[in-house]
Formats: sequence, structure tokens, C-alpha cells
Amino acid sequence: MSSAVNRRNGGAGYRHGATKVHRPPPSLNDSLDGEVRAFLTDEDQLHTYDDLTKVNPVTPTTVLKCLQARYSVKVFYTHAGCTLVALNPFQPIPHLYSLEVMKEYHCAPQPQEFKPHIYIVAEEAYRNVKGQVEPVNQSLVVSGESGAGKTWTSRCLMKYYATVAASSSVVKSQDTVERIERRVLDSNPIMEAFGNACTLRNNNSSRFGKYIQLQLDRCQLLVGASVQTYLLEKTRVAFQPANERNFHIFYQMIKGATDEQRKEWKMPHGENFAWLPNSEKTLEEDCFHETVEAMVHLGINAERQRLIFRILAGILQLGNVNFSSSSDESQTCNLDEQSKDFLQRAAELLCVPAEELQTCLRVKMLKAGKQSVHKPCPQTECSMRRDCLAKVIYAGLFEWLVTFINNSICADKSTWCNFIGVLDVYGFECFNLNNLEQLCINYANEKLQQHFVAHYLQAQQEEYVSEGLQWSFVKYQNNQSCLDLIEGSPVSVFSLLNEESRLNRASDAKTFRVRLEKELCDNANISWDKFSKLPHFTVAHYAGKVNYQIQGMVAKNKDPVPPELINLLQKSDNLLLHQIFTNKEDENLTTKGLSKVTVVSKFKVIVQLEACGIVETIHISAAGFPIRIPFKDFVQRYALITKYSNVKSGSHRVDVKAASNNVLRQEVEKLLRVTVQRRKAFDLSHNLGSEKQNS
Ligand code: ADP
Ligand code: MG
Repeated sequence: MSSAVNRRNGGAGYRHGATKVHRPPPSLNDSLDGEVRAFLTDEDQLHTYDDLTKVNPVTPTTVLKCLQARYSVKVFYTHAGCTLVALNPFQPIPHLYSLEVMKEYHCAPQPQEFKPHIYIVAEEAYRNVKGQVEPVNQSLVVSGESGAGKTWTSRCLMKYYATVAASSSVVKSQDTVERIERRVLDSNPIMEAFGNACTLRNNNSSRFGKYIQLQLDRCQLLVGASVQTYLLEKTRVAFQPANERNFHIFYQMIKGATDEQRKEWKMPHGENFAWLPNSEKTLEEDCFHETVEAMVHLGINAERQRLIFRILAGILQLGNVNFSSSSDESQTCNLDEQSKDFLQRAAELLCVPAEELQTCLRVKMLKAGKQSVHKPCPQTECSMRRDCLAKVIYAGLFEWLVTFINNSICADKSTWCNFIGVLDVYGFECFNLNNLEQLCINYANEKLQQHFVAHYLQAQQEEYVSEGLQWSFVKYQNNQSCLDLIEGSPVSVFSLLNEESRLNRASDAKTFRVRLEKELCDNANISWDKFSKLPHFTVAHYAGKVNYQIQGMVAKNKDPVPPELINLLQKSDNLLLHQIFTNKEDENLTTKGLSKVTVVSKFKVIVQLEACGIVETIHISAAGFPIRIPFKDFVQRYALITKYSNVKSGSHRVDVKAASNNVLRQEVEKLLRVTVQRRKAFDLSHNLGSEKQNS
């Protein structure tokens, strides 16, 4: 159990299908001060409250207390009005996700009447796709802080659909014939091997955002899927924060390789790789065999696998190449014998000429008019070029894999008509040192929060008012001012960052800092500690305050790749590497003509969906109207009991609102009649009973 949790950090999602994923509640003693201690609800019975809207009063503390009570009796799911809160049990719970349980929820006429479960959300979305009149595509958003259980929940959802919507579709590729649902599920171990890593928060932390669309045909069977990924944290390839690890795939290779593979990858037993820290740690995720098996199922044949692993092995060798500065600035940096050996190995594995690789890392090419001038790089720049090469190769390989997976699982457009989307974004992050990666991640969460606020909290309340219902507005925290600070126009953190990146000044960190302070001083969401050693700015996010380091942010945003490196990779005799880097010139891969597309400008296209605001959600859900049916659907559903029974056939136009009123009036009258009759019957029997007693 975590010891301290910011109530908003627990993260959320919502449904028109959705799930909120929360970390276990903290010890209540930590958070009770100043909160309402008196419960109107029965404290002993708190664990039985399957919907947080039943808690009274709704405060962060009472909600936490209820969740904690449920957690202590091993109940991990709780409704929160329109959302579902999932607590992470941090251990396998037998039978909670069994096939039988899946079937129970899938076959139940009213799954909502069962115990809260992720399968209720899944099933509801599945039924909603069908729609009462028209099919309606669904999106499930899983959000929460890192380690909360988002990826686990996304996998549960995918397994559910792969089971209840299993079709007879098979896909034939070179070596295998596979059922489509198997392939869709097999995309998970591959993407997790390449995109997840062990961090301080989570042994299997996703270092990319993922949106998967499950494609359904007219009969609601799963016929394919497509995956979109966001902002892979590629810096991890060449730099692993203290006590964290590189991407799983590297450890899987080291631990799972046969002697033959070790020889091919030039990785003898006992060799230390600088980019593989903490490899003595054994994790469940270090399973090479599972990744290879999934690759086979998806149609990545043995030869392609060989190319992939040679590229990865080449990256690891690069990490052991170190440069020592030359006494003469006009000379290139030196490589000791060991580094020369590792460079040779890297060149062989990446299938590029060793001499050329050495030159690319140590000498930069400067354009002076039509002429190009070669200039030796100082030591730090050589290391930066080495890291840059590793990152660009890894990111290219990841992108290629995602494309391959999509080609392997995506159904032909003519065969599917609806989809259920599942969004698994990285959760809010706040470390001691935060940089552009955290700013982007937290910005995405901020966007999701805003979407949730706008589409659920605000829209629902406005709708009540517009329909003339009596409603007093529930206040909620609007994070628009924080978003204005990060992405607004004309001036924001992103706009200043992009401008500094374009201007390409030598002192960019300093000018960026000065401009932030000068141009954003009016925004209450940003502050500075002028006396701190490390220059940083602090953003007050909806989920808490985060300090962002200024040093290095502009460079990270520019993300430049020297064109010499791309040229080198294009010459590779590794067919896969060659393929990945051919036709790349048009994209923002090189520093030619200074890139217009920066990291943050690319990131701003993320699919913007919804999240958080749990207490407000409960307030609105508890006080609000749980069922909303359009007039037309209402009349159609209850057509049989009205004189408008021919609405369904569309034979003539009717005023659906008036018809709905009519249905209700008829129903109310009927109800009154029944009540009066029952009352009379009750009075009669009561009178008869007392007469009997008297006599
Ligand atoms: P996130 O994606 O939110 O960062 P994960 O989904 O990777 O977090 O969950 C972190 C770990 O917590 C998982 O590796 C798993 O061990 C555990 N976990 C999460 N949800 C569950 C669950 N429902 N049942 C059992 N273990 C879980
Ligand atoms: Mg995850």
C-alpha cells in the first residue's frame, strides 16, 4: 500500500464507458486533519458500499475511508457514479478474472446488478456499441498515476473482448495461421517488451502512451484492431535514472539468449553493458521466450527477428564506447582500445562501415554556403552523438514494430463497422528532477482532466439546466488556467520553448528562463524559487505542484539528429535498419534547415479524451439523473404501451417530446390506478383482519 497519496493523483477515467484506476488509499491518519470526521453513513458498513455516491457526506476523506474499508476486505472495484474506481491489489487475486466470471457478466441481463467489476464497464460499452437504435462507438479511458494499474486494466479489457467477441476470423501469414483475437492480445507482450521499463514506481512501467481500437463487425465480433502510440521515452535507451532500468527487451535478450545468439550478438557471459544497469534484478517481465513467441504469432518471421535483435545488440555495444578528449581541439577525440573494440562490434551488428561510424560520432559536418566543412567534436558532443544515434535507432525500430503490428491485426475497412477504443496513457509524474518528458506526460493528463471536466462535469450540469430541471451547480476545479499556461496563445511555456528551439541560441537555457519569468509572471499557476541551485519553474497542476528543470529542456525539445547519422544508417546492410531510415528525410529527423516540428508540437496532437475529478464526479452523479434517454429512443422503447406504437416503422412523423410526455402521463396514471387499487385491497384486508380479531 502506498503511504501517501494526493487524492487527485489516484487518477481516473470515465465511462460512457470508463474506469478510474486508483492506488490503494493511504493510512487515514495521514489525511484526516481538517477534514470532516463525522460520518452520517454507518462506518461499520462502509465496505458494503459498492457505489461511492452512497457515502454521506462526500469528502475526500470519506471517499478514501470507504475505499480503504473495501480494500481491507479485498474488494477492489467500486462505482463512483458514472465511473469505476479500481484499487491495485498488488497481488494476483484468484478467480477475479476467470472465464466463468467473464461469462457471468457477459450473459447477465443486468450486469450492473452484480458486484462492481471492470467487466461491468466492459460489458456496458459492448452493449452500447450496438446501441438501442443506432450503433455508437465507445471509448474507455484508463487513467491514474504511475503504478496504479492502468496497463493491467487495459489488458483485462482487451482479454474480455477477445473472449466475449471472439470471431472465427483467422489471419494467415508466412508461417502461421492465427486467430485474430490471439494476435491482438499478442501485441501486448511485444509492445511492453520494447516500451516498458522498471522504474522506481512500477516494475513494468509503460514508457509510452497507447490507444487501441478494437474493431467489431456487424455481428459485434472482434475482427481486428489498430494501435496508436504516443511519445516513447526514447531517452531511456541511453540514460537510465538512478535505480531504474532500460527497456525490458534488452534484459530479456541478455537473460534469454542461447549460446549461439550470444555469439552472434557479441555478448559473452559476464560482459557488462553501461546501458543495462540493475540487470541483476530478476523480474517477471524478463521473459524473452514470451516476446519471441508473440512475435511469431504476429508474423514476425525468424529472419526479421534476427535483424531486430542484431540492431538491439548493436545499440548495447554503442553504450560501451567512450571518448576521451584530445589535447588539441583541432584533433578528434580519442577512443581507448576497449572502446574501439565495442565500436567495431556495434558497426558489425548494425551493418555499417566501422570507419564511417567512428567519423560520424567524432566529426560534425557544417554547411557553409554550398560547401561543407568537417569539424572535430568536443568530448561531450561525441557522447551526445552516440546517444542520439542509439535513440534514433531505437525509436525508429519501435515505430516500425507498431506499424508491423497494425498491418498484422488491422481488419480491412469493409469488414468492420464499429469500435471500442481503450486509452492507456502514462499517469501523472512528479520526481525530484523533472524535465520535458514529465512536462509532456503531465500536460497529457491535464488535457484529459479538462476533457473530463468539459464533457462530464460541465456538460451534464448545463444539460440539466437547459432542460429546465431544478439543479444547483456543483463547483469543480477547472484546470483551464494551467492549460493556458502550458499551451495557450500568444504566450505559454510551449510557445516560448518552441521559439527558443527555433532561434537556436547558444545560451538558450538562460534566455528561456528569463523569458518564462518575464512573460508568464501574470499566471498564478507558475512560480520560481530564485535561490535554488538548479534553475527550475514550478507548475501547479490539478494533481499537485511539479518542479521542472530548465537546463536541457530546449535541447530535448529540439531533439536534433545530425544528418550524417541518418546517412550512415541508410547505408546499413541490415535490411531492416536500411528500410527504417530510407524515406526519412522528409520527416523531422535531421537538423537540416532547423526543424519546425519540435517534441511538444508533435505531442499536442494526442487523442484528447477524459479523466479525473473523482469527488466532483460522485457529487454530480449522486445528485444527478443516472438515466438519460433521447425522446425518440424513449418513445420507441415504450412504443407498445402508447398510441404511438407505429413510430418505430417511421410511417409518420410525430413530435417525440410530446409523445414521451404522453407515455409518461399514461404510465403515471396507470401507476396511480394500480396504487389506489392496491391501497383499497390493503385497507379491505386490514379491515377484514381487524373485524376477525374483534369478533
Ligand atoms: P500503470 O500502467 O498504471 O503504471 P500497471 O498496470 O503496470 O500500472 O500495474 C502495476 C503492477 O500492479 C502490475 O504489474 C501488477 O503487478 C499490479 N497490478 C495492477 N492491477 C492489478 C490487478 N487488478 N490485479 C493484480 N495485480 C495488479
Ligand atoms: Mg502502464
